Amino acid sequence: MARKLKTTVGSKTSVLIIYTGGTIGMVQDHISGELKPIDFKQIKEQVPEIRKFDYNIDVVSFKPVLDSSDMRPSHWIEMAELIEKHYAAYDGFVILHGSDTLAYTASALSFMLENLGKPVILTGSQLPVGEIRTDAKENLVTAIEIAATRIDGKPAVPEVAVYFDYLLFRGNRVTKINSSKFEAFQSINYQPIAEAGVHIRFHTHLIQKLPSGKLKVHKKLNDQIGVIPIYPGISKDWFANQLKCKSLKAIILQTFGSGNAPSSGWFIEELQKAADRGLIMINITQCPGGTVEQGRYTTSSKLAAMGVIGGADLTVEAAITKLMFLLGTQSKLSEIKRLMKISLRGELTN
Ligand code: ASP
Repeated sequence: MARKLKTTVGSKTSVLIIYTGGTIGMVQDHISGELKPIDFKQIKEQVPEIRKFDYNIDVVSFKPVLDSSDMRPSHWIEMAELIEKHYAAYDGFVILHGSDTLAYTASALSFMLENLGKPVILTGSQLPVGEIRTDAKENLVTAIEIAATRIDGKPAVPEVAVYFDYLLFRGNRVTKINSSKFEAFQSINYQPIAEAGVHIRFHTHLIQKLPSGKLKVHKKLNDQIGVIPIYPGISKDWFANQLKCKSLKAIILQTFGSGNAPSSGWFIEELQKAADRGLIMINITQCPGGTVEQGRYTTSSKLAAMGVIGGADLTVEAAITKLMFLLGTQSKLSEIKRLMKISLRGELTN
């Protein structure tokens, strides 16, 4: 359930902030010492700079606000519906979100918002907004500015993006890589699409072009998927039992290097049995950078031969949310497999 709060009224450009929670709006509990979410009014008091913008800035808050560890696909749908409802009225959107699962939400929204022609900028912070050394103010203020920026009369960033620590990334390319540094996110396989210094430099050649079609919001996600990291010594029992899960429609295998997995007989047999049952299998690499190339080594040729789909340079966040999106919106197995291999929103390099 969301609640709307009006902040400023009256000028040309308008930005809607969707506040979902996260450290950015947390305070320390006096007794337990734990960080707990507060409401947006208190954030606004800590960042008076927001009032200096010559934009209309409205806020809609999740009720209750969340630590992002509690984010679920239903929350992604709630965010997508808010954007759909307010799409015509605002030039850009900023989503305030906990950093822990921010990359998952950014990826999910990128698939759910087809033909997005306005900026949807996710940000958060590592320190609460009330702390002296907080990174929250810079992240929030610059995210608002990016959401409002137009170049030659057109939105500068018509896509879902993540702004953190002076860098703007494509939303479905980021991963949280650090739990204590301000530089919390990285996008190894796709360069930042903008950088904030004295000026905000937009790398327009890396940013999505304005779509020709109208916004289409997809609200069906299917969570019948699983992720299996492969490791040396993985036991047959553990592996086979995961594949047997009745409700499973697709799995993501996190393999070694360029998509390599053990070549032991039992491993291949278990996968083959799963493939014969119609389970969709996607191969992504455990390496933070680089791509899957099935067939480069013998240890991945067998996967390709049984129909495992090479996930190229998809992050695990993008692979999970893309699968949920495709399973939710497509009924044909062959179509899901085809679409997994191609770039829908710039999430992979073909
Ligand atoms: N646990 C917090 C969250 O993801 C961490 C953060 O916001 O940085 O909501």
